[in-house]
Amino acid sequence: MPSSRYMGRIDFLGSGNAFLPHGRMHALVLVDDCVLVDAPPTVLAQLRRCGTSPSVLKHVLITHWHADHTFGFPFLLLERKYISDPECEAVLNVHLRPGGRGLLGDLCRTGFPGSLEESLEESIAWSEAETGKLEETEWSFERFAVKHVEQTDPHGYELVHSSGFRFLHCGDSGPCEEIDDRARRCQVVLLEMGIPDFVESPHHHTPSDVVAFSERHPHTLVLVTHNYSSARGEEMGFPMPELPESVIQIEDGDSLLIDDDGSIFMKRKS
Ligand SMILES: [Zn+2]
Ligand SMILES: [Zn+2]
Repeated sequence: MPSSRYMGRIDFLGSGNAFLPHGRMHALVLVDDCVLVDAPPTVLAQLRRCGTSPSVLKHVLITHWHADHTFGFPFLLLERKYISDPECEAVLNVHLRPGGRGLLGDLCRTGFPGSLEESLEESIAWSEAETGKLEETEWSFERFAVKHVEQTDPHGYELVHSSGFRFLHCGDSGPCEEIDDRARRCQVVLLEMGIPDFVESPHHHTPSDVVAFSERHPHTLVLVTHNYSSARGEEMGFPMPELPESVIQIEDGDSLLIDDDGSIFMKRKS
């Protein structure tokens, strides 16, 4: 998936919530073919589908500990060790909150006991820094706290391109001030919409929350992911809600392209 024509590229490899709605895999973002945000259980299938080898990944940014965001991590390591990087030449930079190294390590030891110790020690550069440059890319990041299940230590990432373009990945979160504050300076905001309006929870956005957000930020392109509804054209499950035209409910396979002049273009899956 070459990004040569464009200055930057964000591919949406999944757009569903934890329940895997019809036609959607778990929410997953790939930036410039080498930065993953989260590692859902189906991550290998999602990378295969877009033709990206796990060995070319340079960074993984973890938002929080929920299984739909982390349980694919052992599979990523396993694939790199036995298939795409058997000489263990590529280092994977994993950015996460304190405690995450132990948690992901335990996941790997539970899932593939004895197989991934070397990978965990030698093929990963663990980083708990809250801000930093994503080495060998044009991006830097700031991690910020969001409003979600407390035990999962929930965070989002503000990704800043060297051109000045800013992309706000809000992780899993209900409406919160931190997102509103940061959204004012970001061209594109990726919001989760994990629950329909009839479910009451402060930990996710509903369609009504998304509408209110887009009204507060009329100059921001609002993208919706981690969707509770089925994908377009699916007859089973929850139908997609009606949202304002300024809001895009992304589908698996959609991409956001950033051109040299900073203009942005959504490429919908064909
Ligand atoms: Zn989730
Ligand atoms: Zn979550």
